[in-house]
Amino acid sequence: MWIEKINQEKKQMYLANNKIDKIVASGDMSGLEVLVQQGRWEECLGLAEKQGPDFLNTYLMRFSKAHLQQGQFKETARVLTRFGVPAIPQMLSVYKTITIEVLATINEIEMQILREMLQKLVKNLEAGAKNTHYHEFHKYLMVVHLLLLKGECGRKNLPRVASALATSLLRYTKDIRADQAFLDAGNANRKSGANDMAYIFFNRYIDLYDAIEDPENNGISDNQDFEDTDIPSPYEIALPEKNLLSATERDEIRDWVLEVNMDGTEKSLPTRCCEYCQFDGLYEASLHCPQCNSGWEPCIVSGYPLVKANSISCKFCNMGALRDHWNDYIDVFQNCPWCNSMQTQY
Ligand SMILES: [Zn+2]
Ligand SMILES: [Zn+2]
Repeated sequence: MWIEKINQEKKQMYLANNKIDKIVASGDMSGLEVLVQQGRWEECLGLAEKQGPDFLNTYLMRFSKAHLQQGQFKETARVLTRFGVPAIPQMLSVYKTITIEVLATINEIEMQILREMLQKLVKNLEAGAKNTHYHEFHKYLMVVHLLLLKGECGRKNLPRVASALATSLLRYTKDIRADQAFLDAGNANRKSGANDMAYIFFNRYIDLYDAIEDPENNGISDNQDFEDTDIPSPYEIALPEKNLLSATERDEIRDWVLEVNMDGTEKSLPTRCCEYCQFDGLYEASLHCPQCNSGWEPCIVSGYPLVKANSISCKFCNMGALRDHWNDYIDVFQNCPWCNSMQTQY
């Protein structure tokens, strides 16, 4: 009886002196609750971590729930990264929510935090069976990686890689902001002189522009240009509430499109020959052949399909890249974009 009393007194003393760690160290987990009530999450998580993964995971879950409700996505991602991003089933929906929300922001600093979280998560998932969750988050990691690279390469003089990146990202328009992606792909291809592609991408951008402006009369009915590509149809993508450009800026694009159309030639997306079934109408940037169902992994520099004849791999992380895109990139950055190790041209 008196021991209990002494323990109670001890606890009161610790509480009064703010020595919550001593309470937890004595095996009394109510100390963690005190920290939660006071919003001292980082201390709580630090102490929970010392008590083992079960405690840590429980409090990570509670931390995430509380912060996601307040819309604090990047803050949650940062803390989860610090505590190792455990690949436990009950946390996967938290990671997914953060990913979807941060991808929608198009903010580079937030995306860097997201990339770090996804890198750890994918590594943790990799240690288990490579299941659908692994593939899903690996795809998200690739999307964030390519988005960040697009920003980097756009600031340097790398027109070939920049336009390939912007083009590749169109296949992820279910996950990223679609009108931005088509606008960027139009601009990047116009800059690199690929007018056919720029024309088709700008056309889709203007369709989306009109649909955002007047969702009732969404007039996108023609998906012919993109048939048999892995670019999602407009019916599969979510429209943002507001347009990125003013009507005047849109008209400048429309004028350019009309001007290019004056030459009267039929515009189509560039094609390549499938290395497996020899189908020669395969969209150049597609990761999937509609004829034989073969697939390709994306290049870590440009996101373009890793066709065997032109592929090389990073000597450190072993991820694949297309030789030309890799050489362009290494010439400027001297490091692998995936693992950051110093690398040379092939
Ligand atoms: Zn094929
Ligand atoms: Zn590498």
